[in-house]
Amino acid sequence: MTKPLNPETLAVRAGSQHTPFGENSEAMFLTSSFVFENAAQAAARFGGQEPGNIYSRFTNPSVTMFEDKLAALEGAERCVATSSGMSAILACVMGLCSAGDHVVASRSIFGTTVQLFGNILKRWGLEVTFVSLTNPDEWQAAIKPNTKLFFVETPSNPLTEVCDIALLADIAHKAGVLLAVDNCFCTPALQKPLELGADIIIHSATKYIDGQGRCLGGAVLGKKDVLEPVFGFLRTAGPTMSAFNAWVFLKGLETLFVRMEAHSKNALALAEWLQQQPQIARVYYPGLKSHPQYALAKRQQKTGGGIVSFDLKGGKDAAWKLIDSTQLLSITANLGDAKSTITHPATTTHSRITAEERVAAGISDGLVRIAVGLEHVDDIKADLLRGLK
Ligand SMILES: *Cc1c(COP(=O)(O)O)cnc(C)c1O
Repeated sequence: MTKPLNPETLAVRAGSQHTPFGENSEAMFLTSSFVFENAAQAAARFGGQEPGNIYSRFTNPSVTMFEDKLAALEGAERCVATSSGMSAILACVMGLCSAGDHVVASRSIFGTTVQLFGNILKRWGLEVTFVSLTNPDEWQAAIKPNTKLFFVETPSNPLTEVCDIALLADIAHKAGVLLAVDNCFCTPALQKPLELGADIIIHSATKYIDGQGRCLGGAVLGKKDVLEPVFGFLRTAGPTMSAFNAWVFLKGLETLFVRMEAHSKNALALAEWLQQQPQIARVYYPGLKSHPQYALAKRQQKTGGGIVSFDLKGGKDAAWKLIDSTQLLSITANLGDAKSTITHPATTTHSRITAEERVAAGISDGLVRIAVGLEHVDDIKADLLRGLK
């Protein structure tokens, strides 16, 4: 038996099977439909007796190569790509839950995910309970006979709280519930939720998978039988990934490991420096010894990742002043880009949730989030120092 390839090698090599002309760089298959040799083949493809492409809302070779590469990296049987991270979450719920089902979700999740669960899906009869990411007892207590899904993000956005995936998977499985983990912040380069017992992984490929802030995309990963209804929803409802975006993400994944290492190295150096600044009350970064789940993060993740948040003593005014005084950092809510970005969560990503929900999630008015990019860390520090002073 040959030795399995290392993850860094899989990121470069896995999934690149659709190369009809021997191309070394994977092709972008920009076609909406595929031609059959005859009527019988068309019937066999539609009937599922013969594998192969039919229409790009169902499958497309560029998208398949992206799905296979990401599946290899996450150690998943199956990956289905979506038009965005939000449509990945939507497809997961639409595929696996029905009206009357109950979902338990962490309070510390992406602001738009809170809205999707709490406002939109609620109107369609989904029951949702929000609990503390870091308190397993609350998850246990929230389980009802109709509970279908646990939904977490770890580390969370923007406070980088970390939950014990293996422990939550255990609680979920004892009750016949599936655990979905949004692995956007870590990517498979730093964390492997399926190996820890999770059933489903969600990705916003828009972030670190792209790595350069170009395209929107997402993915759902897991076992074949779990993913089948998710794929069924996607091919029918249509929020699938475009061939162009899949091609960009394929190229992005090739450099995922080196980028995540560089993002993490910069983020740790910046977090340690921020901790020493007198204007800052608290720094949130899983790679800091002062982080409440430092030991768990060290065990569960390869590094702390690229997101650092901090509370300014001066509240919202100080936060806005700091943001407005930057000259290098991009004032934008995106993350996972080579360019460092700076955000005020309370008035942007988390502005649509109520003030009470924000307080419950620990998002203060003085909170600033930095998605640390690949610039030299000294230049990032210098850009922030101006505003801190
Ligand atoms: C951005 C993000 C999403 C949503 O992804 P889109 O691609 O913007 O739709 C979901 N979860 C997390 C953690 C995110 O950061």
